[in-house]
Amino acid sequence: MEPVVLHRKASIAHLFSLIRDRETEYPEFSTRLGVLGATVIAESLEYAPFKNLTIHTPLEPANVRRIIESDIVGIPILRAGLGMVEPFQRILPNASVYHIGLKRDEKTLEPDYYYDSLPDDLTGRTIFILDPMLATGGSAIAAAQLVAKRNPVKIVFCGIIGAPEGLSALSEAFPDMPIFLGALDDHLDETGYIRPGLGDAGDRLFGT
Ligand code: URA
Repeated sequence: MEPVVLHRKASIAHLFSLIRDRETEYPEFSTRLGVLGATVIAESLEYAPFKNLTIHTPLEPANVRRIIESDIVGIPILRAGLGMVEPFQRILPNASVYHIGLKRDEKTLEPDYYYDSLPDDLTGRTIFILDPMLATGGSAIAAAQLVAKRNPVKIVFCGIIGAPEGLSALSEAFPDMPIFLGALDDHLDETGYIRPGLGDAGDRLFGT
């Protein structure tokens, strides 16, 4: 499945000009990344479950399409995924949020699992994995494997910046997974950073 990468509208280009810039410090970085996160998440809601219903405006009945928020689950991958939780909850305040803790081993670049708050059963739920940086794809794949065992309806990935290497790895591991990105960058360097990228998203989000 082809990834969806946000169009280079002036507003998106503006936000990327700020989050990529090393002069943009915490907390502005977090705010700007959150707005981009909201845009990616909003785009990905094409895959959200919905129902058609008739509501009454103060003036007359109207046919509307409404997302079934309670059937949706957001799963941020700790730590940088936390930067996308606030926009997710603003758009879908009735969706649940569970966390997965994966730390990248800086030598092997493999994800090290240390925590999850997932329920045993995700039957009937549509999952949105939230992680700003799709680098090697290792964390996204490990998270999706943990989720897939729990029988969800669908798993969607939302990120801010992807590397071609991570995108290929994730789409090979999960060919049917819709992948939404703010931008697709040039390459992954030998230390596992996306280039040109934005550096360490977790450090920049939390001012560490
Ligand atoms: N994680 C980050 O925070 N930045 C990268 O460039 C790659 C992975």
